[in-house]
Amino acid sequence: MKIIEELRDAKTIGIGGHIRPDGDCVGSVMGLYLYLKKELPEAQIDVYLERPADIFRCIPKIDVLKSDFEKDVRPDKIYDVFLALDCNAERLGDVETLYGKAGRRINIDHHISNPGCGDLNIIEPEKSSTCELLYELFDKERLDEEIAKTLYIGMIHDTGVFKYSNTSPRTLQVASDLISYGFDFPRLIDETFYEKTYIQNQIMGRAVLESIRFLDGKCIVSMVDRKTMRFYQAEPKDLDGIVNQLRIVKGVECAIFMYEVAPMEYKVSMRSNGNVDVAEIAVKFGGGGHVRAAGCNMKGTYYDTINNLSVHIEEQLKDKENCKR
Ligand code: AMP
Ligand code: MN
Ligand code: MN
Repeated sequence: MKIIEELRDAKTIGIGGHIRPDGDCVGSVMGLYLYLKKELPEAQIDVYLERPADIFRCIPKIDVLKSDFEKDVRPDKIYDVFLALDCNAERLGDVETLYGKAGRRINIDHHISNPGCGDLNIIEPEKSSTCELLYELFDKERLDEEIAKTLYIGMIHDTGVFKYSNTSPRTLQVASDLISYGFDFPRLIDETFYEKTYIQNQIMGRAVLESIRFLDGKCIVSMVDRKTMRFYQAEPKDLDGIVNQLRIVKGVECAIFMYEVAPMEYKVSMRSNGNVDVAEIAVKFGGGGHVRAAGCNMKGTYYDTINNLSVHIEEQLKDKENCKR
């Protein structure tokens, strides 16, 4: 199936991605925008996304993003088609109203926890990233260096530079085609994935230092509170990567990182090394994600939150043990 066949008659197209956009989200909304601009030069195409981290300034035409939702979202606007990428409707934030009202809604995602929220749902959990999925929906003859680079950014972010288990042989074939367009991919990897500001490194160091292991070292947890965020003048996007640093501790099956979003409320990120299905746990608390990477928001004290999660992690680890016997 090619996405253009669904959009040829649309005069107005809206595109949106999830709140606190990550690399795959920014890459997919911008990759789709660049592609559709080329295919449908007459159409009005608006892209709504919270302001991404500065590392994504290298994405071509990133300034088209409408990020000031109070100003940019006109609730009376009705798009012919609205596409929600890398999420379900609830995670569109303030843009959900526009999506809900559109003439036709298309949901493109790779989260196993997403049952699909569109008139057309293209949900493929075996894809590493929404960017990889989009590549399959594009006409290969119409790709160019800008589109290739943008999709590649999303792929490196969701696969941890092709090292997480969501990397398939096909993922690498797609990446191989994308780098053939000639953009400077080693630089892109360093500047958008590995590079950290001094503050980001300090806050990661602190989170690692204060981490606690439980369930016989199979679980590790750490937290950054609002006071610490203020002290470092850090934003949520400065905390990316901490949970993965926790996950690689020897013996750990499941890593949890959380930061305080409001008094007694935390954004929780979970990562698993395979024996725990963290998507299943995140869904129980109103979130979602993938088997090895998922998230949710939780209320209560830090210790309540750990206790609530650990019950489910322990249960899964026990089931796994029993299966082995
Ligand atoms: P994070 O821990 O925020 O990096 O998220 C890990 C994965 O779970 C990503 O693929 C997210 O898109 C997904 N995810 C995180 N939080 C939620 C949520 N509240 N609802 C659904 N999916 C989520
Ligand atoms: Mn995402
Ligand atoms: Mn994704």
